[in-house]
Amino acid sequence: MKKIYQELGVCEKVYDFGQKQEKKLKERFEEIDHIAEYNQLKVIKAMQSRKVSAECFMGSSGYGYNDLGRDTLEEVYAECFRGEAALVRPQITCGTHALALALMSNLRPGDELLSPVGKPYDTLEEVIGIRPSKGSLAEYGITYRQVDLLSDGTFDYENIRKALTDKTKLVTIQRSKGYQTRPTFSVEQIGELISFIKGKKPDVICMVDNCYGEFVEQKEPLEVGADMIVGSLIKNPGGGLAPIGGYIVGKKECVEHAAYRLTSPGLGKEVGASLGVIQSFYQGLFLAPTVTASALKSAIFAANIYEGLGFPVIPNGTESRHDIIQAVTLNSEEALIAFCQGIQAAAPVDSHVSPEPWAMPGYDDEVIMAAGAFIQGSSIELSADGPLREPYAVYFQGGLTWYHGKLGILMSLQKLYEAGLVQL
Ligand SMILES: *Cc1c(COP(=O)(O)O)cnc(C)c1O
Repeated sequence: MKKIYQELGVCEKVYDFGQKQEKKLKERFEEIDHIAEYNQLKVIKAMQSRKVSAECFMGSSGYGYNDLGRDTLEEVYAECFRGEAALVRPQITCGTHALALALMSNLRPGDELLSPVGKPYDTLEEVIGIRPSKGSLAEYGITYRQVDLLSDGTFDYENIRKALTDKTKLVTIQRSKGYQTRPTFSVEQIGELISFIKGKKPDVICMVDNCYGEFVEQKEPLEVGADMIVGSLIKNPGGGLAPIGGYIVGKKECVEHAAYRLTSPGLGKEVGASLGVIQSFYQGLFLAPTVTASALKSAIFAANIYEGLGFPVIPNGTESRHDIIQAVTLNSEEALIAFCQGIQAAAPVDSHVSPEPWAMPGYDDEVIMAAGAFIQGSSIELSADGPLREPYAVYFQGGLTWYHGKLGILMSLQKLYEAGLVQL
């Protein structure tokens, strides 16, 4: 084993350090496998109950009327995530698009949007109009309010209560930390927040940005009172196979609004050809529970490796997990770049290129991204990224297989070790 790692560029010291950390993780990995087993059965049950058959994989072109595969997949998603309806489409280009769609279709001029969990994901700033942009919610007269988390990362119930007004139509709750160093919320915590909000204002729509959270726990946010969950198919639920797409699952009315906005008033879900990608959506969903488990194992391994070397890590090596992201605070630009170069060097695709920081559309600071992925930009595949700003935190996620995740983390450590940024 050591020899093949060495052939890939991992030296003995790095390998041994990795083995020492991995030994401690047996029980954690068993817990993850247990959740994956439950979720695998949940997916199979939904596919059986909706009678998925070979005809579902045929795809359609043109208008896509009566596309059996598309309509059945949406029923499978709805059942699996416990919603009344779902919109799962290749025409939804990414997670930001899915979130923008859910917001723009369910809000009207004069309404107010509230985020009770602090600043939302970077790309949503332009959707909302926190940073001005063409076509933002702000341009359509939809206002925005935000209540920051308390300094210990918990909800500021007092100010959330004050922020819920007659105008508040929709509350957006981001499950995952995204590019921040706050904790990710468990489904249970999200449930508590939603009950508080609905207790004050029962008719408000509670939307959860579910990106990176799917299949990490046995429950999903619709089971604790959310009205709508939204996510990307090139993250967890696409299982690494979906080449594009996003989903919205939840209350029938919310999903219908989104469908009328995605296509056109009057057309809604009836149009939208599934082209040649529908089988990968099914197969990806089928694999998603075990793929998510691999990504979780990789994240926990990374936490333990870097915590063991004295770097601040969020979540820490032992706490419970609610998404697949691992943040490691590397404290310098040099270390951030070395880490990403290690992840890239371990990839099955494009391992021979070296990532460089760039001004990515939708992001405020320069960002460095490492991804040697089969699907461009897929972050359920092993990837690392981080904005070039203090405290130089890298956000590491994915790994379609745990063994690839392990190699990636060992390679990142190798690069830091070679640059003299860590001692082993
Ligand atoms: C990835 C992500 C998004 C945006 O998804 P894209 O597919 O990158 O547009 C939004 N919110 C969260 C929490 C995310 O992790």
